[in-house]
Amino acid sequence: MCDHQPPCPPIEARDREAARTVHRHPEQGWSRLCNGLVLFDDGGELLPSGLVVAPVVPYPRRPLDAGAAGAGTVVAAEALAAA
Ligand SMILES: [Zn+2]
Repeated sequence: MCDHQPPCPPIEARDREAARTVHRHPEQGWSRLCNGLVLFDDGGELLPSGLVVAPVVPYPRRPLDAGAAGAGTVVAAEALAAA
């Protein structure tokens, strides 16, 4: 049971990933949250019932840095202009 205050969201909640981490294994790429959810570093989830939830963002992740995406866009635009 959860002794945290405020209580962690239950496994059925949409924000179940907001529960506190109780076991962390970064060398293996997963953590177990207070509500029993096993959360993988790629965003995948394993529920206590055995249900697997695939990561929302496919691996490898796209760069979050808008500057890097912008630079690629500029390069592509220059390549189109040269053609
Ligand atoms: Zn908790």
